[in-house]
Amino acid sequence: MVAYFCMEFGLHPDFPIYSGGLGVLAGDYLKAAADDGYPVVGVGILWRKGYTAQYINEQGYPYDLAPEFNNLSFLKDTGVKVQVTIKQQPVTCKVWLVDHFSNAPLYLLDADLPENKEPWLTHSLYRGNGDDRIAQEIILGIGGVRALRALGLAVDIYHFNEGHAVLAGIELIREKMAAGLSFHQALNATRRQIVFTTHTPVPAGNEAHHHGALAYVGAYNGLSYEQMKQIGGDPFNMTVAGLRLSTLSNAVSELHGETARKMWHQVGDASPIIAITNGVHQDTWQAPDIALAAARRGNLIEAHQANKQLLLAEIQHRTGQILNPDALLIGFARRAATYKRGDLILQHKEELLPLLESGRIQLVFSGKAHPQDEGGKNMVAKIVAMAKAFPGKVVFLENYDMALGQILTRGCDIWLNNPQRPLEASGTSGMKAGMNGVLNFSTLDGWWVEGCRHGINGWQFGDGYVGPNQDYHDLNALYRVLKTEILPTFEQDKAKWAQMMHASIETCTQQFSARRMLKEYYDRLYWPLTAAEEKIS
Ligand SMILES: *Cc1c(COP(=O)(O)O)cnc(C)c1O
Repeated sequence: MVAYFCMEFGLHPDFPIYSGGLGVLAGDYLKAAADDGYPVVGVGILWRKGYTAQYINEQGYPYDLAPEFNNLSFLKDTGVKVQVTIKQQPVTCKVWLVDHFSNAPLYLLDADLPENKEPWLTHSLYRGNGDDRIAQEIILGIGGVRALRALGLAVDIYHFNEGHAVLAGIELIREKMAAGLSFHQALNATRRQIVFTTHTPVPAGNEAHHHGALAYVGAYNGLSYEQMKQIGGDPFNMTVAGLRLSTLSNAVSELHGETARKMWHQVGDASPIIAITNGVHQDTWQAPDIALAAARRGNLIEAHQANKQLLLAEIQHRTGQILNPDALLIGFARRAATYKRGDLILQHKEELLPLLESGRIQLVFSGKAHPQDEGGKNMVAKIVAMAKAFPGKVVFLENYDMALGQILTRGCDIWLNNPQRPLEASGTSGMKAGMNGVLNFSTLDGWWVEGCRHGINGWQFGDGYVGPNQDYHDLNALYRVLKTEILPTFEQDKAKWAQMMHASIETCTQQFSARRMLKEYYDRLYWPLTAAEEKIS
């Protein structure tokens, strides 16, 4: 059995214990595992106040609220409680089971109990200070392993999705040392049980902690400074620890594999990083009428137009703006992180304004910034200002979440993506769009390097350029492709557009499904571990 650890799980819009792509990947992983009968359990945290609900104030600037939880009646009480030690105090965590959105069981730890001094520790995802984060990682990692033991589950492989979970490795080592192994024996045996998925190539996204804080909060879990330093360095880097605690690691696209291998090459004793490209759960993200039309080689344009109308109705409902169903609708919805350059297309006014004023293009944006990310919030504010200046042509939708993601990746005509290369590890929203025949229009970063057949299933721009003036270079390329290839096809050659939709759906359902991803995890990540273990024993 594989235990898949992740800080966040995006299973359903009504259960907002996720922030963005990482959580949606984890949710899609569980659903795909359940579909194909793989023996997998998820381990996470019950964030009772979720991540953030983000709206726009009178001045056009984002502000944060705690999201409303609807009904948690689908949580099942396992009857299991486990204890961890945080700042030398016992913290009890209740273990809930969620199997409502997927048949793969997800176990969630919850410290919101009357006996705990800090019941708020598991309230809010990715908020709070450094010590809180360490405490949350103790709950996920150490508490998670103890929960699996208390539940009596026989786990063969521990899969850490991102570095947040690495303290589970420290617990596995502690267990073995308690049974009499030396630290080195315990570390080696533990490594044979762990695989690790690394994510962001943005350095700030790779969390590191001072040893003083780790020791104070209780992450050492009985290990010494020297032993912890050997695993994560000093300061203790969670990604480095993931690489040293595992036998095999993976990056989330081919290009990200190259980037990650360069980024971490100086880390001694790290596991090799292979590339297993992300995929998305088809039944969650592909509209049923599109699936049907694609299977029957039916009228895709008509099916798409119905999804576009649903999006336009949602836009009208949320903003009062009425968009033109026949003009090209460009969508951009992602976490508002600055490297994703959400406002790039708005920066070339001489190109943009005539296209907007003539009504040939319309833009719909959505995205949340991290509550403490000023740069991301300023980027949102710029988009909001443009939406104010161009009513009915530029729209910003507040509080991006899975529900909006679903409507947008079904209803836009093209899906824009322009991260600063090579910082987008994968970029799964494009796979969702592509499955719906919403054509990708993206720089060659993340998954699109593998997926793109220019002019056949979507378009690239910028030719993978990396260097000075990347914004300027990409912006010119963007408008060139938009004006000379995309608009003429959209406006004058619907037959070719429909053909491209078919090609896009085929590429994404075959190459970029969570089903394919699960199979690769088993063939290339899990199986080598099992095989090596059998040889040893
Ligand atoms: C799919 C999804 C993401 C990930 O999209 P990227 O392309 O990686 O930016 C983030 N947030 C939500 C709500 C999603 O549905």
